Formats: sequence, C-alpha cells, structure tokens
Amino acid sequence: MKQLIVIGAGQGGLSAAIYAKLKGWDVLVLEGREQSGGKAGGIVQGDYLLDPGPSIIILPRLYEAVFAAAGRKMSDYLVFDKLPTISRIYFEGSPPLDLPGTREECLRTLKEIAPQDYRGIQDLLRKLGSVAPLVDKTVFSRPYLTSKDMLDPGLLQFGLRFNPLRNYRQMVDRWVTSPLLRAFFYGFPSYGGQTWNSKAPGAFLIPYYMIEDGVYFPRGGVRAIPAAFEKLAKELGVEFRYNSKVNEVLGNESKATGVRLTTGEVISAHAVVSNADKLSLLTPRDGDPGWEPSFSYFTCHWGISKTIQGLDHHVLVIPKNFETGFEELYDKRTFPTNPIVYLNAVGALDPLAQPPGKTLLFSVVTAPAEVKGIHWEESKWNYVKSVKSELRSAGIEWCEDDEEFQRIQTPSTFAQRDGNYRGSLYGPDEPHRLMGLFPLGNRDAKWDNLTFCGGSVQPGAGLPMVTLSGKFAVDLLSTR
Ligand SMILES: Cc1cc2nc3c(=O)[nH]c(=O)nc-3n(C[C@H](O)[C@H](O)[C@H](O)COP(=O)(O)OP(=O)(O)OC[C@H]3O[C@@H](n4cnc5c(N)ncnc54)[C@H](O)[C@@H]3O)c2cc1C
Repeated sequence: MKQLIVIGAGQGGLSAAIYAKLKGWDVLVLEGREQSGGKAGGIVQGDYLLDPGPSIIILPRLYEAVFAAAGRKMSDYLVFDKLPTISRIYFEGSPPLDLPGTREECLRTLKEIAPQDYRGIQDLLRKLGSVAPLVDKTVFSRPYLTSKDMLDPGLLQFGLRFNPLRNYRQMVDRWVTSPLLRAFFYGFPSYGGQTWNSKAPGAFLIPYYMIEDGVYFPRGGVRAIPAAFEKLAKELGVEFRYNSKVNEVLGNESKATGVRLTTGEVISAHAVVSNADKLSLLTPRDGDPGWEPSFSYFTCHWGISKTIQGLDHHVLVIPKNFETGFEELYDKRTFPTNPIVYLNAVGALDPLAQPPGKTLLFSVVTAPAEVKGIHWEESKWNYVKSVKSELRSAGIEWCEDDEEFQRIQTPSTFAQRDGNYRGSLYGPDEPHRLMGLFPLGNRDAKWDNLTFCGGSVQPGAGLPMVTLSGKFAVDLLSTR
C-alpha cells in the first residue's frame, strides 16, 4: 500500500486522513501537539473545559458527508442540536434583540426591527437561494487552481447574479439601511479573509446559511467535532503520532519524498498532505514570500466564579460607531478603538465547560494579523480593556476579583502554536489570491504529490470549509 503522510491533525488534516484511507492510502498523521483538533481541539483550564476557536457551527451536512463516505452514520459519532436563536444582539442604545434560529421567526423579527429593509432582505435571500445550489456544484466541490479554471460555467453563473461593479459594502447598503443590520452584515467578508471593499458576494452565504438552515451546536462542545473525526479515522486504520512536529518536507526534482521532524527524524512517504499552513510550511524551501497576511482574531476566555446576567450562547455587542471600527479594521488594518465583540457563553449547552454556579465566557474580535504597527504582546492588555469596556456598555460585567482565570489568544498565538503565516487564519491578503478572490490553491507548484488542506487554502477557513479542503487535497493526489 502507498504511504501518505498528513502533517497536522486539525479539522482539515483529519478529514484528509479519512478520505485518503478510504482511497486506499496507508495514512500516518504527524501532529505537532499532544492532541488532535488544532484550533477546534479542547483545552483544560483548571475546572473549566474550553473550546479555543470555533463556536458558530453551520452546515452540519458537510460533516455528515464524510461519515457517509465511510459508510457510517454521523449520529453514531456526533450529534448536532439546532439552536433556538442565532444570536443575542446588543446594539448600543437599543434594547437587546434575540435573532430567532428558524427562518420564519427570524424574518418576522427582522420585519419588526427594520420594516423599511424587509423587502431588501427578502430580495437578498431569494437571490442567495438561487445561487446556493451553484455553490454546492462549484466551490464546495472542487478547488480552482488557475485563472482558466475560473471559466467554470457554474462560477460564471454565480458571478452574473451580482452586479460586478459593486463591492460588498455597496451591496449591503443597497439591500439594508438599518444600522443594526448593516453592522451585522459588514463583518462577514472577514471570515473569508476579505473586506467590505472586496467583490465578495460569497460572503453573504454565511448569514444566508445561518438564516435559512440555522446555527447548530454539537453535544459535548465544539471539540466533539474533531474528536469524532479522529475516532472515525482511527477505526479506519489511520495511524497518529502526536508531539511530532514536521520541520520541512523533503523532496527531489519533481516529487516530495517525505518529511523531516524537528527531532531530525526522517520519514519517507509516497505523498504528503499538509494541514500546516501552506506558506509557513514552504518557507524553508521557498523562503518567506514577504506577503501581507489576511485577518485573524483576538480572543479572551474568562472563568468567573459567579453567574453573569444578560448572556446567551452567542452574543454580539455592537457599538454605535461600528462603521469607524470597520474602517479601522478593513481600511487601516488596526485594532478597532471600539471593537464589535462576539461573546460566547455556552455553559448551558455544554455542561462540562464550566463548574456549577460559575461562568465561562469567550470573547472574539476580528483583528489584523501580525502586521506592521501592532505589537501584540505589548498591546494585548489595552485590547482586553477595550473588549471589557464594550461588554460593560451592554451591561455584561463582573468584578475582576471573581475572575478565576483569563486566557488570551492573539494572532501571534496562532502563528507560534498552529504555524499560521504571520498569524493569519486565511493565508495571505487579497492581492495574492487567485484573481483576488480565491484563497491559495491546494496544490504545490513544485511537487505534484504534495497537496494542502486547512484554512489557508481553498475553499477557505471555517470548520465546514476545511473539512471540504481535506477531500480536495486527497482528490488532487489521486487524479494524477
Ligand atoms: C477564535 C476563533 C474563532 C473561530 N470561529 C469559528 C466559528 O465560529 N465557526 C467556524 O466554522 N470556524 C471558526 N474558526 C475557524 C476555524 O477554527 C478554523 O478555520 C479551523 O479550525 C482551521 O482548521 P485547519 O484544518 O486549518 O487547522 P488548524 O486548526 O490550524 O490545525 C492545524 C494543525 O496542524 C498542526 N501543525 C501545524 N504545523 C505543523 C507541523 N509543522 N507539524 C505537525 N503538525 C503541525 C497544528 O498543531 C494543528 O493541530 C475560528 C477560529 C478561531 C481561531
């Protein structure tokens, strides 16, 4: 049997390992850390059990497809509950608003809060409903590696449904006028490494799937997702080695031949799939390209010895001057003076996360990555202050004496711990994307038996996307 090494057991690497095993490869996963899951793997902190990354879970059908490919029922490994609300929104100066988790109720609520925008929202959803099947047939099905690939009729049809002269912000502004709805929509391009200046109609798909299909939470916390994938991979016979960090991929003129670990050990293979960030992994061979990174996150976890009022599983705190915050983030690449804070409080959904009577909070702010002008290590305490101040303005506060711990992640955490290129979760910035649109390709330019999965390559970041990327990386190997 032909040997395949998968570098990294994040969600992308786990998916790749499963697909590769199903295609007959003998698969060895080399994970640098002591556990699988990457950004979605659980972290024990005293009596608390933290999910350090994802929390908004959409499109469970994309995970289901992996279990189905292996002839298994996902429900035997992983169960998702649909949440009754998408999010509780605190818009400065307005009472809190719960955005319901079902389409009909959500639309009713949107009609109540922004009747002037109801028609625009319906038009937008109708348009997205017409392109969603095209997305399944295109970006969810295959990577786009060359400009020629972009002539795919499905992609062209998608593009033609939107005005090519309008950027994302102009499209939002055309469909909705309510400040709350604009603030809600403006953030989505960043989840794909793009901005409100981008020609990024695809960014509307995230809120579309949230409204049309709902937001989910896995039983056992987000960490249950990679744990279920790891279990399936092991059952299929995939071998895992933890604490095995790959230093570089080795190869000759035309092929990758294996990897060298940081310990100096060399392991040979017929092919390599990397879940490690593409640019970071290739730096020893190709040098640092010196490209600007895309976006990242600044996060804080707090374990608080009391119950806190005003929470829901997903909370969005939006300052009145949110437009300035987006200008700072998107146009100036600085940390917003008044950030929009996403706050996650999953204690009720995930009983193991916090001890009884206590509260686990997790705040996430979209941020520039390791860019000139931001010294994350020095500035992080000021950013924590800004985040707490925004939460306080929504009435969410606690006494620092009640904090049992505070745990901060900056883009430098993602660079050092996970190997993300300059801390970016989405690879390099837009000029280095395929036609400014698509993330890096899943294939190596030099070695045709080296392919990539994970958030820095297509179809992009986010757990459902990186799960698809695992399949892309394996499909590219088997087609040559
Ligand atoms: C704060 C935050 C919030 C997020 N929110 C959401 C959300 O709500 N919903 C959503 O869907 N997504 C969300 N995401 C994005 C999502 O977490 C990521 O896109 C996804 O987890 C990335 O998976 P990955 O496969 O790219 O690998 P990673 O999770 O980055 O894992 C890569 C793995 O490879 C290992 N590795 C790296 N280099 C090497 C090496 N050289 N040798 C051996 N092993 C190596 C690492 O140790 C790691 O285990 C969020 C991310 C963050 C950080």
